[in-house]
Amino acid sequence: MRALYPGSFDPLTNGHMDLIERASSLFGEVVVAVLGNPSKRPAFSIDDRLSQIRKATAHLNGIEVISFDGLTVHCAETHRADLILRGLRAMSDFEYELQIAHTNRSLADRLETVFLATTARHSFLSSSVVKEVARFGGPVDHMVPSEVAKDLNRLFNSALSP
Ligand code: ADP
Repeated sequence: MRALYPGSFDPLTNGHMDLIERASSLFGEVVVAVLGNPSKRPAFSIDDRLSQIRKATAHLNGIEVISFDGLTVHCAETHRADLILRGLRAMSDFEYELQIAHTNRSLADRLETVFLATTARHSFLSSSVVKEVARFGGPVDHMVPSEVAKDLNRLFNSALSP
């Protein structure tokens, strides 16, 4: 099976990585799809995010990393995905994710959304939390893959320098 895992990944965290690794053994093929939504004013460019994810997933088989704009269901069709994968950390994710899943189902009724519950030790992790910690000089090495930690240091250290 081929899963499409769409998201902002701004940046990739260990929570995302955990989902990608588990989905890869469950489904065999995972297309990680980076949404280029400019209204979110991302910290990292699409190219940076693609490169971070490619490096961090290089040890896994069956992973493709792509970018897309527009509807997730169109991206799933283009990339011949059997299902959409999303993660759930807490009840707060659930309402939003359910609404998106219903919307996607109404647009493409044979495309299922499959949710994986976060691994407990990653349940507090989000890209926003990671950026907040890095912005104020806190350590993020336990929250993100090493290539992302380097990029975060570069981004915020150069922003802090005169
Ligand atoms: P989006 O802007 O589409 O929510 P994100 O990059 O924030 O993009 O998240 C992509 C997906 O990964 C979402 O389904 C989100 O719930 C899931 N996710 C994010 N962080 C974690 C985590 N720590 N554990 C499990 N799933 C997560």
